[in-house]
Amino acid sequence: MTGKNRRNTPYITDMRPQDILMPVATGLCCKPGGFHIDPVRPVERAVITHGHSDHARPGHGAVLATQETLGMMRLRYGDNFAGSTQAVAYGEKIKLGDVTIQFHPAGHVLGSAQIAVSCKDTCIVASGDYKDAPDPTCAPFELVPCDVFITEATFGLPVFRHGNAADEIRKLLASVALFPERAHLVGAYSLGKAQRVIALLRAAGYDAPIYLHGAMEKITRYYENRGVALGELRLVKGVKKADLAGTITLAPPSATSDIWTRRFPDPVTAFASGWMRVRARARQGGVELPLVISDHADWDGLTATIEATGAGEVWVTHGQEDALVHWCKTRGLAARPLDLVGYGEEDEGDARPVGEDAET
Ligand SMILES: [Zn+2]
Repeated sequence: MTGKNRRNTPYITDMRPQDILMPVATGLCCKPGGFHIDPVRPVERAVITHGHSDHARPGHGAVLATQETLGMMRLRYGDNFAGSTQAVAYGEKIKLGDVTIQFHPAGHVLGSAQIAVSCKDTCIVASGDYKDAPDPTCAPFELVPCDVFITEATFGLPVFRHGNAADEIRKLLASVALFPERAHLVGAYSLGKAQRVIALLRAAGYDAPIYLHGAMEKITRYYENRGVALGELRLVKGVKKADLAGTITLAPPSATSDIWTRRFPDPVTAFASGWMRVRARARQGGVELPLVISDHADWDGLTATIEATGAGEVWVTHGQEDALVHWCKTRGLAARPLDLVGYGEEDEGDARPVGEDAET
């Protein structure tokens, strides 16, 4: 913003947040830095928060992201997914144009990052998708004090309280013990959720081989290559039906409702998602064993995080914006929905019914 001082010479006043980051059709645009965050269309320079396909898309000129996010993009889109890439470590500061950016762990999936954008005295944190709950497969969420906090709102309603994921895993193991003659099929998103469920099973002491649908093999092996221990994993393909009795198989949600399930003996269908808090949703998807396990913050997590950042202004995006905007305003915070489009397609942001996962 240009103004005049008392001697009538032009000077630059503090920038307004919307001069630093601006929602446009392509995504969040940082004009003074010359980049977009998680753009939904090809741009010259993209800063990417994490590997889910609605945030990390191919075709950009330059991509800045964590090593893991770049690795996931390469896995999905091939070596030529961007003109050039730059791996950014958590905590590293990078100057882009007139702004400085810094990545901080978002606790959502392996390599997920919040992007802090600082310009003069103003700091805006674009958190991407995040969760404050513990997850053995990724770095824990880091609280970043800021002036403006951009929060997701996937589970931005007070009804969403995820509880303890370890309790849900105990429910699964109790069912496996109760039905040794049946197979257990757990629907889980291929990037992040599946690996977290496996790690939680291991943490609960389950040390038998865990079976995988072929569609999640590559990404799961990638997690292992990045140092996430997941125990013995086997592909379900080629295994005799009778040998799958008493076992646990992880599969993309879409696979748990198609003919692929016929290879399992009398399968118990489970689904790991924050949406499983809504019983109608589990019923509608034919889920016998709903497991409330989410990679997004629940209502308490969202509100506690917003408060803890100390931000005076909150921008709310992809999900149930209204309730969260209202909550912020009752706390005296300036808040507004961002109305960005194109997000929430891959993981739990997916508003479609269970069984219509974007994954193949
Ligand atoms: Zn995500």
